[in-house]
Amino acid sequence: MKLQYLGTAAAEGQPAIFCGCALCLEAARRGGKDIRTRSQALVDDSLLIDFPPDSYWHMVRHGVDLPRIRHLLVTHTHQDHFYPEEFFYRRPGFCQTEGLLTLYGNDALKARMDGYLLRTGSSYGDSKLACVELAPFVSHQVGQHRVTPLLAAHDRAERCYIYQVEGGGKRLLYGNDTGIFPEATWAHLQGTVFDIISLDCTHGREAEGSNHMGVPDLISIRRRLEDAGCVKDSTLFVATHFSHNGGLLHDQLVEALAPVGYLVAYDGMVAEG
Ligand SMILES: [Zn+2]
Ligand SMILES: [Zn+2]
Ligand SMILES: [Zn+2]
Repeated sequence: MKLQYLGTAAAEGQPAIFCGCALCLEAARRGGKDIRTRSQALVDDSLLIDFPPDSYWHMVRHGVDLPRIRHLLVTHTHQDHFYPEEFFYRRPGFCQTEGLLTLYGNDALKARMDGYLLRTGSSYGDSKLACVELAPFVSHQVGQHRVTPLLAAHDRAERCYIYQVEGGGKRLLYGNDTGIFPEATWAHLQGTVFDIISLDCTHGREAEGSNHMGVPDLISIRRRLEDAGCVKDSTLFVATHFSHNGGLLHDQLVEALAPVGYLVAYDGMVAEG
């Protein structure tokens, strides 16, 4: 399975918009892996996960074939993961694209989409869009992948998801945004072995664990995943969704995370598992 990271920052990006903190200034000076856009990923060149405000740039920078992407999983409706305003340009007169783009996510996604279309005088039909509501822990065939939404520990005002994605005999756990998983998710995960486990590291060296994670949480959640029988020798662990407030540049993240068994994602990185 190919997992390409298109964006690896938390909501503000890095350097963060309007921010003059020391980390943002140094990130801008260094460039390269320290420039992080809002989080989005692409599985096997066909299944998009999340739709941040930087989706257009991801298409341009990483050569994503957006006109032909048919399936979009949405973890939750925070603006850095779901920015429906860009769908305005799927309407006639703005682009030439065949075929339907289907969005999959929670009940809040459907409500947001319905509201957005109403507000803009658009429709699912004229925008060649569809929206499918997924129930937690119920698997659904999405193109060539089997997708199971798992409950995240994140914004309690909506039912945020992380995703188990299976295809070609491989299995991915796409785990951001979340703190340490709720018990219902642990019950589902028990004994399910993953090839790639991608997790949230918003808080840098600090433990948080209830909405997001930091390095100490990543250490403890890896141990629990091992105890739950989710890990084999070849399982890749990847940390992503970094905030400038976490205070760590890419090299410092690698220093902190490589010894505890995590790759540090950067924009454009491909993980093959
Ligand atoms: Zn986020
Ligand atoms: Zn900053
Ligand atoms: Zn969020």
